[in-house]
Amino acid sequence: MRALTESTDAAVLAAVQELGGQPFQGRQVLQWIWKHGVGDFAAMTNVPARLRTALAERFTLRGTKVQKVDDADCGTKKLLLALPDGESVECVLIPDGDRTTLCVSTQVGCPVACVFCASGMFGVRRNLTAGEIVEQVLVARGELPPGRAITNLVVMGMGEPMLNLDALLPALQRIHDPNGIGMGARRITVSTSGYPRQMERFAAADPSYNLAVSLHAADDTLRRQLVPTAVAPVRDIIAAAHRYFGQKGREVTYEVVLLEGRNDRPEDAEALVETIGALPSTVNLIPWNPVEEIAAAKGLRRPRPERVDAFADFLRNGGLKVTVRRQRGADRSAACGQLRLRTLGAN
Ligand code: SF4
Repeated sequence: MRALTESTDAAVLAAVQELGGQPFQGRQVLQWIWKHGVGDFAAMTNVPARLRTALAERFTLRGTKVQKVDDADCGTKKLLLALPDGESVECVLIPDGDRTTLCVSTQVGCPVACVFCASGMFGVRRNLTAGEIVEQVLVARGELPPGRAITNLVVMGMGEPMLNLDALLPALQRIHDPNGIGMGARRITVSTSGYPRQMERFAAADPSYNLAVSLHAADDTLRRQLVPTAVAPVRDIIAAAHRYFGQKGREVTYEVVLLEGRNDRPEDAEALVETIGALPSTVNLIPWNPVEEIAAAKGLRRPRPERVDAFADFLRNGGLKVTVRRQRGADRSAACGQLRLRTLGAN
């Protein structure tokens, strides 16, 4: 059965009418799906029981189901969602003061294969549909305690968002739409490992979302060691990011996952300063969140705090704006792809 989250509003309204409902009842059904985020037709209390039953005979509300919830001590909550075809994806809720950020996935697995990432260990299985992307928001929202809301969305989970724009752009539209989930575009950030042609297409989308680029290194040879599938030269990626800023007026964030001895040396910082240049941007340093299986196999290490501080200082002295991400949920499977990896491993 088709999930209603995969349908356009027009298709939902038409289905309701076909089943004998009135247009206003179709709009009520849409509100239950997107505003209230109900997971069961029975919860649509102002919709006639006959219509609810008829809808339930033809459709499901959602395609995904929560398979596992992993709560970290610091409040981070990681959700593993089962998809209708037996695959699974992760999304992560990260509370921080008044903010709650949700990190969502766009693919099952990932083709980019960054050396430090669990999601890329087994390649990509398939793209998520638009409905499966939006459902992560609906499901995660349902996991929040009363009075708490998702304030920020980052498309930074499993997968490379730029390789699934056909589903991501309509999904973001739905998440942003005031008649959908209604989250402001300024609160939505899409992170890419750098696909200049697709970044152009993303730049043409309306409204203007925030863009983050996972750079990791400014030197092409080093970057290919960290991101083995990287094809585009760093200068082309930076040029596309600069064009994004020019077109959208949105400052780009460059993400750098730091690995001790690999890309946290003074020369690596120097290369970043030279390459990123003077256009407004922020460099977000992320000391690697170790994944046991990867650390053992590839000899990777999280850098010691003094190395991270020295790296950040070098960038700041070079004129760059720098933030260092505070680790959350490092205690239990909080890094990208780990919960899925461990669940796959347990089966
Ligand atoms: S870090 Fe992101 S882009 Fe790299 S393999 Fe993992 S999911 Fe893919």
